[in-house]
Amino acid sequence: MFNNLSERLEGAFKNLKGEARISELNIANTVKDIRRALLDADVNYKIAKEFTDRVKEKATGEKVINAISPGQLMVKIVQDELTELMGGVEAQFDISAKPTIILVAGLQGSGKTTFCGKLANYLKTKKGKSPLLVAGDIYRPAAIDQLQVLGEQIGVEVFSERENKNAVSIAENALKYAKEKAKNVIIIDTAGRLAVDEMMMEEVANIKQAAKPNEILFVVDSMTGQDAVNTAKAFNDRLDFTGVVLTKLDGDTRGGAALTIKYTVQKPIKFVSSGEKLDTLDVFYPGRMAQRILG
Ligand code: GDP
Repeated sequence: MFNNLSERLEGAFKNLKGEARISELNIANTVKDIRRALLDADVNYKIAKEFTDRVKEKATGEKVINAISPGQLMVKIVQDELTELMGGVEAQFDISAKPTIILVAGLQGSGKTTFCGKLANYLKTKKGKSPLLVAGDIYRPAAIDQLQVLGEQIGVEVFSERENKNAVSIAENALKYAKEKAKNVIIIDTAGRLAVDEMMMEEVANIKQAAKPNEILFVVDSMTGQDAVNTAKAFNDRLDFTGVVLTKLDGDTRGGAALTIKYTVQKPIKFVSSGEKLDTLDVFYPGRMAQRILG
């Protein structure tokens, strides 16, 4: 994951190898290389600059204490800053409401439907919940079939109304059905388009208004880099979502989306998805991710 970024950062720290103390010159060279590594990972210029300015400031003020070498010190500073950039601590995912209603939105192909299946599986097997999946994509019958197949694989019931062309009413009916069947988590999959469009936004906003979800999760393909960040902004402006799900982290992702979505939209990444199998869903921990990036 983020192999290129990891390698580039490692290269940046090499500037400090063998140095007995931290100096203005070796900080400057290292910081320059870190900035290049971030830009290469598709981090936006302003964020990369602010990041390296902070690293520089911290490193300049530091004395190398006892056993810590300048290289180790710099790694520690960068790790702390990466953690902070990605949100610091893990975000809350509150499933205490009875029932908990989770609305899932994102562009078509982002991995939304797959994520709904993974989340239902996670909540069932790890949290002992009794979820209901709701097929809210009224435009693509294949999306309903896909959710049905996922539901069967994990033993979770799927609510759908193939003849109903009103996504808001499907959501409302699903909530009633969930109540009758004592389901305590309702996961609503919604329609996605290939690009952000007004009709889609309006529809999801209407479902939000009707279903009053406890969590609104925005699903985005991490392979799309800065586009992922821009799409997140568009969805957040309209939906004021509660968290982000980054998918396809098993692919050749450069890292920009993971590093900068939190900073850009001020909403935390809550889950990361890294595979097509249903158990490849993880809660997102900024500290662990920073540690992984730095090897
Ligand atoms: P939707 O249109 O947003 O509902 O997207 P889908 O859930 O149908 O996913 C689109 C494609 O991406 C499918 O082929 C999925 O199997 C695949 N996919 C979803 N999540 C992941 C992931 O985390 N990693 C990989 N490699 N593929 C994924």
